[in-house]
Amino acid sequence: MSERLPPQAAPRGRILVVDDHPDNVEIINARLSSRGFEIETASNGQEALDKVRADPPQLILLDVMMPVMDGYEVSRRIKTDAALPYIPIILVTARDSTQDKVEGLDAGADDYLTKPINFPELEARVRSMLRIKRLQDELDEKNRELEHANQELELANRRLRKLSITDGLTDLFNHRHIHELLHEEFERSRRSGEPLAVAMMDLDRFKQVNDTYGHPTGDVILYETAQLLRETSREIDMLGRYGGEEFMAILPGTDEAAAAHFAERLRRRVEEHVYRDEATEVRMTTSCGVASFPSAGAATPDDLVKVADEALYLAKTSGRNRVVRASTLPAGE
Ligand code: GH3
Ligand code: MG
Ligand code: MG
Repeated sequence: MSERLPPQAAPRGRILVVDDHPDNVEIINARLSSRGFEIETASNGQEALDKVRADPPQLILLDVMMPVMDGYEVSRRIKTDAALPYIPIILVTARDSTQDKVEGLDAGADDYLTKPINFPELEARVRSMLRIKRLQDELDEKNRELEHANQELELANRRLRKLSITDGLTDLFNHRHIHELLHEEFERSRRSGEPLAVAMMDLDRFKQVNDTYGHPTGDVILYETAQLLRETSREIDMLGRYGGEEFMAILPGTDEAAAAHFAERLRRRVEEHVYRDEATEVRMTTSCGVASFPSAGAATPDDLVKVADEALYLAKTSGRNRVVRASTLPAGE
């Protein structure tokens, strides 16, 4: 928690006093220094700007009538400099017309004092401006903290979202998410009339691998199979781990014949691949069932999975290491 001073106490602050007459600077300097403020001085607009940019003060007392660059211009430049924090500016001038005050405030100044300076009033306005400055700084700091916290939260959310849709072993989509995607793609396909295919793929006799080489080697095989699947598919295909050693590929814009080609390429990839885990070398084969929409027996996303599954089952029962198209299933199955 930052300490907050009671309103009547004079907050210590660094004040830049700008005036082209050394006498004026000196008299303000003497008075405010004696009240505990830290005073810096500048004798023209450019020097003031340089000092403000090098090390922004908490407050500026700014003479209006100065040669080369008057106080209005200095004020405008400071207030429009996005790199600077909020710095209150009190204009100090001999001129006391409404027109001058309006011009000063329009130039971004926060307050206005006329010469000859009434010191109690000067001090009161300085204290008031420094309170505002302090509050503004606290607000800026809180905003920065909030922005930072928001960014962290957004990042954490993105990581969480990724985790919630990803299978931890293979980095493919998990069962729930690939199912959701299938429903979405099915709807899209229904609306657009573009075909949609699903390939279900299951490693052959995978249980034997676990039994022979152990579960960790089985995991390596699953991971590498996912990699083969990624390498065989296109950017727009969606890949998921459907179950233990069963994978699903959703193939947008693909009919059954094209899906069978994809599955056949994948089948061959797996067959040719040598799985390696330390000293172990393992060869695997895979069976695939493919189905597409629109087609007989696939009126819903679940139907599509069901017929692809039936095709996969036939691939298994008819010898494994093969691709079966749903359209070749015996009718009524
Ligand atoms: P089939 O050719 O008929 O598909 O025979 P299979 O042995 O591949 O099929 P089965 O369904 O009998 O066995 C699947 C095995 O997959 C059994 C299970 O222990 C194993 N499995 C499932 N998930 C994982 C996993 O995350 N890691 C490992 N290593 N094995 C897994
Ligand atoms: Mg299997
Ligand atoms: Mg299985």
